[in-house]
Amino acid sequence: MAAAESDREVPSALCTEFLNFSVKDTASKWLQVTDLYKEVYHHLARYVPKIYCLGPNLNPQSEDLLAQMLLQSPLEWYLCGEDPSTGLAKLEQNNQPSQLCGHVFKVGEPTYSCRECAADPTCVLCMQCFLGSVHKEHRYRMTTSGGGGFCDCGDTEAWKKGPYCQKHEPNISDSCQEDPLAHLSTDMIARCYNVFSVVLKYAVDMLTWDKEDELPLGLEPPDRSDTYYCMLFNDEVHTYEQVIYTLQKAVNCTQKEAVSFATTVDRDGRKSVRFGDFAFCELAKSVIVRNTSRQSKPLRVQVMHSSVVAHQCFALKALHWLGHVIGYSDALRRILCQVGLERGPEGENSSLVDTLMLCDSKMWKGARNVYHQLFMSSLLMDLKYKKLFAIQFAKNYRRLQTDFMEDDHERVVSVTSLSVQLFTVPTMARMLITEENLMTTIIRTFVDHLRHRDLQGRFQFERYTAQQAFKFRRVQSLIGDLKYVLISRPTEWSDQLREKFLEGLDTFLELLKCMQGMDPVVRQVGQHIEMEPEWEAAFTLQMKLTHIISMIQEWCATDERVLIEAYKKCLTALTHCHSGFADGEQPITLSMCGHSVDTIRYCVSQEKVSIHLPVSRLLAGLHVLLSKMEVAYRFPEQLPLSELSPPMLIEHPLRCLVLCAQVHAGMWRRNGFSLVNQIYYYHNVKCRVEMFDKDLIMLQAGASMMDPNHFLMIVLSRFELYHIFSSADCRKRYNRENANKDVVQQNNTLTEEMLHLIMMVVGERFEAGIGQVEGCDEIKREILHQLCIRPMAHSELVKALPENENKETGMERVIDCVASFKKPGVTGRGLYELRPECAKQFNLYFHHYSRADQSKAEEAQRKLKRQNGEDTALPPPVLPPFCPLFASLVNILQCDVLLGMLGAVLQWAVEPSAGHWSESMLQRVLHLIGMALLEEQQQLENSSEDNDVYFNFTLKMSRPGEAPSNTASVLALLENLQNAPHLEVHEGMIRWLLKTVAGIKTMRERSASASTVTASESRGQEETACDKDKAERKRKAEMARLRREKVMAQMSEMQRHFINENKELFQQSLEELDASTSTSLEHRRIKIVSHRYCSPASSDAALACVGPRRSRPGEKRQVVTCILCQEEQEIRADGKAMVLAAFVQRSTVMSKNRTRPPHDPKHYDPLFMHPDLSFGTHTGSCGHIMHSHCWQRYFEAVQAKEQRRQQRLRVHTSYDVGNGEFLCPLCECLSNTVIPLLPRTMGSSSCEQPGLGQWLKISGQQIKAMHSAHRKLQPVSTVEETVEEECPAPEVFTVDYIPTNPYSSTIKEMLATFGTATYKVGLKVHPNEQDPRIPIMCWSSCAYTIQSIERLLVDEKKPLFGSLPCRQDDCLSSLARFGSACWTAACQPTVQGHFIRLLAALIPDPQVEASPCILDVDMLHLLVSVVLSYGSVHSQDSSGLSVDAVQLHLFHLITVAHMVQILLTSGPEEVTMEQESGEAERGEEEGACRLYNTLRTHVGSSLPEVASGWHLWRCVKTGILPYLRGAALFFHHLHGVPAPPELHALCPGQWEVLCGYLSLPSNLLQLFHGQQELLEPLLHGWCTHPGIQQTLQGGGVLVSFPRESNSLIDLPDDYSALINQASSFTCPKSGGDKSRAPTLCLVCGSMLCSQSYCCQTELEGEDVGACTAHTFACGAGVGIFLRVRESQVLFLAGKTKGCFYAPPYLDDYGETDQGLRRGNPLHLCHERYRKIQKLWRQHNITEEIGHAQEANQTLVGIDWQHL
Ligand SMILES: [Zn+2]
Ligand SMILES: [Zn+2]
Ligand SMILES: [Zn+2]
Ligand SMILES: [Zn+2]
Ligand SMILES: [Zn+2]
Ligand SMILES: [Zn+2]
Ligand SMILES: [Zn+2]
Repeated sequence: MAAAESDREVPSALCTEFLNFSVKDTASKWLQVTDLYKEVYHHLARYVPKIYCLGPNLNPQSEDLLAQMLLQSPLEWYLCGEDPSTGLAKLEQNNQPSQLCGHVFKVGEPTYSCRECAADPTCVLCMQCFLGSVHKEHRYRMTTSGGGGFCDCGDTEAWKKGPYCQKHEPNISDSCQEDPLAHLSTDMIARCYNVFSVVLKYAVDMLTWDKEDELPLGLEPPDRSDTYYCMLFNDEVHTYEQVIYTLQKAVNCTQKEAVSFATTVDRDGRKSVRFGDFAFCELAKSVIVRNTSRQSKPLRVQVMHSSVVAHQCFALKALHWLGHVIGYSDALRRILCQVGLERGPEGENSSLVDTLMLCDSKMWKGARNVYHQLFMSSLLMDLKYKKLFAIQFAKNYRRLQTDFMEDDHERVVSVTSLSVQLFTVPTMARMLITEENLMTTIIRTFVDHLRHRDLQGRFQFERYTAQQAFKFRRVQSLIGDLKYVLISRPTEWSDQLREKFLEGLDTFLELLKCMQGMDPVVRQVGQHIEMEPEWEAAFTLQMKLTHIISMIQEWCATDERVLIEAYKKCLTALTHCHSGFADGEQPITLSMCGHSVDTIRYCVSQEKVSIHLPVSRLLAGLHVLLSKMEVAYRFPEQLPLSELSPPMLIEHPLRCLVLCAQVHAGMWRRNGFSLVNQIYYYHNVKCRVEMFDKDLIMLQAGASMMDPNHFLMIVLSRFELYHIFSSADCRKRYNRENANKDVVQQNNTLTEEMLHLIMMVVGERFEAGIGQVEGCDEIKREILHQLCIRPMAHSELVKALPENENKETGMERVIDCVASFKKPGVTGRGLYELRPECAKQFNLYFHHYSRADQSKAEEAQRKLKRQNGEDTALPPPVLPPFCPLFASLVNILQCDVLLGMLGAVLQWAVEPSAGHWSESMLQRVLHLIGMALLEEQQQLENSSEDNDVYFNFTLKMSRPGEAPSNTASVLALLENLQNAPHLEVHEGMIRWLLKTVAGIKTMRERSASASTVTASESRGQEETACDKDKAERKRKAEMARLRREKVMAQMSEMQRHFINENKELFQQSLEELDASTSTSLEHRRIKIVSHRYCSPASSDAALACVGPRRSRPGEKRQVVTCILCQEEQEIRADGKAMVLAAFVQRSTVMSKNRTRPPHDPKHYDPLFMHPDLSFGTHTGSCGHIMHSHCWQRYFEAVQAKEQRRQQRLRVHTSYDVGNGEFLCPLCECLSNTVIPLLPRTMGSSSCEQPGLGQWLKISGQQIKAMHSAHRKLQPVSTVEETVEEECPAPEVFTVDYIPTNPYSSTIKEMLATFGTATYKVGLKVHPNEQDPRIPIMCWSSCAYTIQSIERLLVDEKKPLFGSLPCRQDDCLSSLARFGSACWTAACQPTVQGHFIRLLAALIPDPQVEASPCILDVDMLHLLVSVVLSYGSVHSQDSSGLSVDAVQLHLFHLITVAHMVQILLTSGPEEVTMEQESGEAERGEEEGACRLYNTLRTHVGSSLPEVASGWHLWRCVKTGILPYLRGAALFFHHLHGVPAPPELHALCPGQWEVLCGYLSLPSNLLQLFHGQQELLEPLLHGWCTHPGIQQTLQGGGVLVSFPRESNSLIDLPDDYSALINQASSFTCPKSGGDKSRAPTLCLVCGSMLCSQSYCCQTELEGEDVGACTAHTFACGAGVGIFLRVRESQVLFLAGKTKGCFYAPPYLDDYGETDQGLRRGNPLHLCHERYRKIQKLWRQHNITEEIGHAQEANQTLVGIDWQHL
């Protein structure tokens, strides 16, 4: 909306009307009339068009005000029959509020659901209710609301327990059933009824009004003016950009206005874009329509009369008002519900509520939202009317859904989305099923909308257009509704419910029949398919229906009669699907091993086969239930068991499994990826429960009813392996057969798959009903087998397990039985590990393993056994027994056909011929034998009398084979194979099998010889077996040990070799690892450095790093190695330049003032740093050293490569070469310049040096001399005329002397390079080698870096010296030495000028203007700059004055200034106990007091009186410490003086040692008092600077010392607190709108509206998102954010760099939840947050981004600047 428009004047005519208007009179009049309806309409007709819509721009404030005065107030008066302010209050007082909370969720608000108590996952609580509920102690789930929906607190049906929070707990005295109307007078009820009727009718009339130029009867305005609006409506077809572009063309608005229009249209659903006469609006309409009709249907535009728009606006207002008024009383709410649902004159479905619902899809978004809200706060809050509403909703259901299909709005703004509020209430759902036949209605509606069928009536999704796809997506919401209806299972069944449920099931079976056999495939031979067939739609349907199918089974499981009927119906449906089964086919006869069976002729590889068999699978599910509920045994007569044809039951599932095997064997390669994908999903955890698993069950069901030999022959036939195993001499087949190699390979794989299938049919018994197991055994087994692969995190396990309709896996109940939890460290996540005792249940052929899983698990389990010193054979686990219905399945294991097959494979293994046999085949056969043996053993152990064990595999396996003549028995073959050299891997397994056979034989013999064998004997036998076992194990362990040792020896030999080859590399990486241990290394990179850590020989003589007495470490050569050419190089001033890779960046990490506006880079004077440190320049280095020429060559190569790459493809890199960035060639650390390495300066050892007074005099003279010399250099015109008398320079000071530059040309070049880089980055300007600010920036960066390192050491609680990694030591040394040399690269008078100005801040100099006041100067920056710039002055002094002496004077002076600074800002005394102080301390305290009082005499009353010297001294001591530590670091690195050992540790007495090292008295005040007469005038000068008074009186930023280290903001422990905070955050730019991506700056705590058009701003000529913009203001280009909705940390640097980082919030399983998908409660992990903070304090964010982008190239392509 154009903000420039001034507020519209209220028309004067209205003013007079307004003045004459009386609310009371109007209401009284209404109270007397008979036809209130007519009267109110008349009133509205008169006023509404005068208030609303009078111009192009709506004016909400004044409109609302007038509407309240003229329209709503009379209604309220009428309603109450008195002044509403008293009337409504009375109502509220008498109200007995509903126990429902009903809080309607905003977008992004947190919602909570209890995973233990919620009836279903749609039951949620608001934060308030949750915190007051019992569920906060339970296992809960937290999500963010998508908007809409409300809090279910108080709804007893929504919660299994704890339905009320503390606030909504009902009073016991309350009778819940009481009619809320009982408290109201009949008059009141009548009035209320009247007024609600009129108002609701009016609102409905207007909102459903579809004429553009007319009004409903009774609302025609008395005087009609002819103005119109051109109204633009929203749709989901056109993009933002299209709308914006079109609007700019159509109504001539600016881009900004167009964006605002588009935003409103998107939010409210419509917006007027033009106001005027009809033709004017019509014109705009035609342009918009024309412009948008080209590709798609045009945007919807209407030209509407302004009075129509006005009434619609008020109609919305009226609905709001209704919602507001019923909030006063439940009675009013009930009356409104009654009014709304009252049947209208048109009969059925004609109430006002019906009318609104049925027009829903015709209304604009804004109107829908408003009436949906009203429904929620009225109909859904009143339990009685909620039911009535639900009935109406169900009656209209079909129509509403059909409208929704055509509607082009999202579902959240459709009335159909209310279904979740109605259908999830169990009693309501049940009622709707029985009374409104809802289940059938939903399924019918669904089927009706899927019209694409093939000739057999099956769904067909081929040639699926985009629009159909869109519709298909919409239809899926119906499945959601069906799920809601079924989600709670009935506990009691009425006959009516049975009837309607079975009717619904019938309809559902119709649906499934349309799916049975859909998307069939035929094997492609010859050439590859041309087009991948469509498969996703069918699978989507299957996936969506998965839970429905499961739930229908669960419903059936609650009632025997329903189950029996359902089973019959399902069987009929299946028979119907396969009618014509085997028709026209000649049956063929299969025979093997003396058995024969008839079957049809069918080849999966030649005919049509489909993966979709939902009817068969549903029947399989129901069949298991028959067994589980024991219906099959109790009512066999009611079941159509005789109608079952087992071969028919297994036929289709078997084909499907064979298809998978053939795909696996590579036979379907030409059918492309669509088939591969289908097979993948068939087994996938999302689908398998109702696909693969059920097919297997169907095979089990069928096989259990068949002769096992017949079953196996049919299986062989479908696998197309029958001819191989049935031939008379199959054991010898390959000797003669000369088959194609591919075919052989295929057959091998098929045989393996078939054997696996047999194992599964016999072995999968973990579903209740198939095997005798508990419900939770199945899930335990799943978890166990996942963990056999490897330890897994909670989320990985959840992903591997099927979820039920409530999104639960049931894992939490059982996980502790099978696994133990291991907590995560600072990285990684918590892991579950398999309990060791569970490993014996491992089944290598677990049916849910993929081949990959299987081999990983095999490897892991073998390794585990090896570690435990056990035999590595992996025999099958002991299985639970089958349920009776399936019990006959075990006979498969001992049937003749199987033994024939086992014998054949074993025989092939004995005489292997190339390629005609596989090890996996043998492995499976051995496993099968093992299963059979275990079965026999189990049965023997469990039976009371051994002779009734009919299962006798040991007997069968000892019989000789049949064909051709008597061949070896299985047992004989096994014994034969035991020692076969080519089968070494299987040796263990075969041994285990033979041992088991022996065991079983003993058992049988023992039972045969009855109980004569004593128990002790058998134990004796076992023991000897045991001993043998032990001996064997010991021998193996010994062998293993020897082997290990040999391998280790080999390894270390290799390592030695490797180290020799890569000596340099190896050392460096070791050094990186730990600097403190590096002294032990022989070769140091910088050899001299090792010296630092040794205490010097003369450790008694105190070490000093500054001043004439400073210690001079002996001269050492520094030799370093270039990482690029590996050559050694000595560091010398005249040698080849060596450089360190470095990264310079702007920083605000230490800023105490983030509001200071960024400076104007052109005119900014960086000479003095303000103590608030608002912006600084940080220099870091990875510490890798190169020759300057090697580096240059490398950089040129990088540049060239980048150019080529950019030409080829538009990809970005993680670094910006154009900006001088590159990656360190060794460690790939982001760098943007290099620092030259320089030798230490050798101070001349000094003779007698001047004292302070004398030096002050000398320097005064020198400065004067320089002033006059510099003036001469300037052009004459600018020289002021008042030239003082020529100042004679001291003789020894030659101002025009130009010293020789000591450095080699390459070093000079590098000095310029680094200087320019620091200047360029620090000031954000283009490089300019001539700029006088270059040296200043370098000194400043040196000081800033020292300060940040000093802070870091304090924060990390590390000693000042000895704990830095050497890369930082090297970096600081080179920075300091560079600083002292950089004047040689600049113009000397310029640097001298800097020195003069710096010194003038301390020693007043009349010739320097505008010196800052000392409160505006950071003293460490001043110290570093002044010391480093002095070199330029000293070079012209030949008097023998030593640099050291001057440095010490400067240092003392600045230290005094800093003390003054601290005292001035020390603040008032804290009330603390006066401490007892010793003699020495008393002296210090006195000194502090004296100095303070001196200051007070200068400054006056702005300085408070402080009596306690102890307080002052403490202020000074703590305040100055960071500065002293910084100074020590500085001088240490400048001069290379080793630090005293005390400073290498964190021991007491540091203060004295530190002062000693810095040549300071430990009582610092002596500095002042010892030279008082000299310093007094300076002090006076400082204190009388006008800036002091100004600052002390609050005129500027007052920084007190010591400056606290900055931390990232405090985060709440519970993540939902953050979500809540973010949900109430609104976009600052678009008037109260919710922000879509609220993002929290972790540096300053600002919440931003990220990743959105509304908050884009322009930065340096580019549109950037709120985060990037904030980054520049808050973090000098670097930002750390938390994306609250995503639970993700975002790092940004500059406009193009960024990465996501793991958030510091973890769930109880030690995992993060990026994207908040899992919803587990999240809590702050302090270690991880500290890690992020450390990255930030170390200035490593940019580097972290660089590494992330190098590791993951997709990060490079993201438009970070739009976040
Ligand atoms: Zn609530
Ligand atoms: Zn509550
Ligand atoms: Zn709970
Ligand atoms: Zn080199
Ligand atoms: Zn490096
Ligand atoms: Zn910030
Ligand atoms: Zn915004």
